[in-house]
Amino acid sequence: MKPESFTRLCIPPNASLHDALARLDATAQGILLVTAGTDGVTGRLLRTVTDGDLRRAALAGVEAASPLSVLPSHPPLTVGLQATQRDVLALMDAHRIDHVPVVDAAGRAVDLITRRELSQRVYLSSPHLGEDEVGLVQEAFSSNWIAPLGPHVDGFEQELAALVGVQHAAATSSGTAALHLGLRLLGVGPGDVVLCSSLTFVASANPIKQLGATPVFIDSEPESWNMSPQALAAALATLRAQGITPKAAVVVNLYGQSAEMRALLPLLHAAGVPMLEDAAESLGASYHGQPSGSFGRLAVFSFNGNKIITTSGGGMLVSNDAALIAHARALSTQAREPARHYEHVEDGYNYRLSNVLAGIGRGQLRVLEQRVQSRRAVFEQYRQALAGVPGLRWMAEPEGHRSTRWLSAFVLEGEGAQARRDALLDFLERHNVEARPVWKPMHLQPLYAGCRYFPHAPAQGNAGPPQVSSPPSGDGPAGRPWGLTHDVSRALFEGGVCLPSGSNMSAAQRERVCELVARGLELMVQTA
Ligand SMILES: *Cc1c(COP(=O)(O)O)cnc(C)c1O
Repeated sequence: MKPESFTRLCIPPNASLHDALARLDATAQGILLVTAGTDGVTGRLLRTVTDGDLRRAALAGVEAASPLSVLPSHPPLTVGLQATQRDVLALMDAHRIDHVPVVDAAGRAVDLITRRELSQRVYLSSPHLGEDEVGLVQEAFSSNWIAPLGPHVDGFEQELAALVGVQHAAATSSGTAALHLGLRLLGVGPGDVVLCSSLTFVASANPIKQLGATPVFIDSEPESWNMSPQALAAALATLRAQGITPKAAVVVNLYGQSAEMRALLPLLHAAGVPMLEDAAESLGASYHGQPSGSFGRLAVFSFNGNKIITTSGGGMLVSNDAALIAHARALSTQAREPARHYEHVEDGYNYRLSNVLAGIGRGQLRVLEQRVQSRRAVFEQYRQALAGVPGLRWMAEPEGHRSTRWLSAFVLEGEGAQARRDALLDFLERHNVEARPVWKPMHLQPLYAGCRYFPHAPAQGNAGPPQVSSPPSGDGPAGRPWGLTHDVSRALFEGGVCLPSGSNMSAAQRERVCELVARGLELMVQTA
């Protein structure tokens, strides 16, 4: 609820029964919080008042002009700021109540959880089917094209390639499989070095390791949150001085937005390093008018359930190089040689997408632009509703970019950002809203401890890159210059929040999230 609507639920004990009834009517939550003190805002919670309490008082003949303090008192059932959604639900069930006030350490009322919100979870990003998918899947059934491959796979590949403006595409069983294939096709193998954005989902980096190569992680830049050209230049220079030419660079387009290709591509080109564009999160986005996923020598899309469109699970590898995609198709179908008997020379995989799922994908492609517009509208609503909140910086959409706003993301700035981020996420979870931190960068993951990392700018008093990634250590070394200046991806992780962004969120759900974020952030100031 809005900060002011929570305040309206608080009423002083000297208010009359009549006033309480009027306030109950106006606020329509079925409950008021009687709080000590005259301001009725930050006072200690004395009790709650429901319609039932007032009805019983009227039946007992209590005058409507009497103060609330004449009502028979019972200690309120409350939870503290540490309570989880499960705690709240358990209390509701045990006492057959539908409202639970939250109190701070001093016993002051700071929040109210209702059973209604606990029964309607708001998801981060849930699948949103269109009208054609069922018919297309039906077609696969009635034509008995259930086996992998078939007309829907061909159609899905051609339609996606046309949409992205590339010549060739190979559908795969997942985005991760497409990344693995893409790296194989670029010749990545044991002993190689592969550059990779640090701020990403782990699937961008795992295939590098699984091919026996070594990832070197590159920081983000503060504008697009994507790979920092400055850090990339430092990495290339340092590696060159050591006689190392990276075999490839996995450049990620985060949360629906392209990386700064005009700065990154010339650097990679000059160093002779091919780009594998991880566009798993950016289908439908564009950069200076060119579709995201058409910049790399190869690019990868994902149709996992949380992505902007989905086949429940699936991916796509695209390129303008016909030979690469033909090779991808062969490798993804066990690398069978053209012989009647099963002849194998190369090491292949079973990575092809099923014809049934490709049918879903074709239907989803038809509504992609609608989904982009819906997600952008969700973001715009958040941005406007939370415009007055200090210390909150939205992921920017720099000049020339059109983001899909796959996820609406912001970063909390200033000291103690990580603690405030966690408090906000706890608050939202208590209200049954699924929000998440921004990806935890790969250079902070235990899985990649010891890997080299090039930050956006050298730390103060440090000779400069290269640095070695460290496993997580709480809040990081004391005295580290905070902010989006040095270790940008770390700061984005520590203070970053992704809000529910689904294209199928109702207007009421979007409003609820806006109100809760505003209230949660205000509460943090109040209880700090
Ligand atoms: C989702 C995602 C992937 C992996 O795609 P799957 O289809 O889930 O295997 C890879 N990279 C990024 C950045 C992603 O967000």
